[in-house]
Amino acid sequence: MSRIVYLNGEWLPEAEAKVSVFDRGYLFSDAIYEVTCVLDGKLLDYDGHSARLKRSTGAIGIKMPVDDETLLSLHRQIAEKNEMTEGLIYLQVSRGNPGDRDFMFTDDMTPTFFMFTQKKNVIETKTGKNGITVASVEDLRWGRCDIKTTQLLYPSLAKMEAHEKGADDAWLVRDGLVTEQSSATAYIVTKDDVVITRPLSHEILPGITRASALVIAEKNGIKVEERAFSVDEVKAAKEAFYTSASNFVTPVTAIDGHPIGDGKPGALSLKLRDLYIEDRRANAI
Ligand code: PLP
Repeated sequence: MSRIVYLNGEWLPEAEAKVSVFDRGYLFSDAIYEVTCVLDGKLLDYDGHSARLKRSTGAIGIKMPVDDETLLSLHRQIAEKNEMTEGLIYLQVSRGNPGDRDFMFTDDMTPTFFMFTQKKNVIETKTGKNGITVASVEDLRWGRCDIKTTQLLYPSLAKMEAHEKGADDAWLVRDGLVTEQSSATAYIVTKDDVVITRPLSHEILPGITRASALVIAEKNGIKVEERAFSVDEVKAAKEAFYTSASNFVTPVTAIDGHPIGDGKPGALSLKLRDLYIEDRRANAI
């Protein structure tokens, strides 16, 4: 079934939504995106996603094309128009179309604003129950990974490389330490049941699921430590998991062919997944 998408103020069947070939999003990846999960027809962690969207557009000087109230209303309308009660909303704001290719841009450009939905089961998933495997891949991304730009070529190549090595995804490694997963936040659990994840910096995206999961963990008596960790620490860990908007908390069972813990999804990871879903579902808007 054809989706109804939102493009620059219009609701259109997906085949009718057209963007110029001169759009800087297309020529320069000069664009910011955001992904918000929909569950029970409601938005999960919406405040965090809308705040990060504004932070990212602000960081590269793209003017937000709509105000806060309209942004929330568009999220609700697009889910309704596509009868989506479970899945995700993708949103992209590019700097727009200057009418030609030019490295220079002006600050009066009209951004291109695009949204679409993707139906997806997010609760009953194989990966949520069984976990995934990862391969370590060198992190060759740029120096501002904290900005959610559409420059996703390297994460995409890294995930392909991980698949070629027989793993489901890539854990990116810089200077011997794990930064994050190709499109998610990475964690290990120590033998003493402490959850370890890298502190926020320009080297990782500030995950919205990460922010909520860490608060929920601490509220439930799970210890959290924010520090970088090595691939050897992952191999020696009791458990590992990742977080992202539409995968919540998902176990990781092996890295580079080495089982993590007993090679099965860890008890703490599965518990945190349930706690996260319960808490965020209750607070969805
Ligand atoms: N890190 C990277 C590089 C990502 O691309 C993503 C999500 O797309 C995340 C982390 C997780 O962020 P969030 O929890 O907000 O989905």
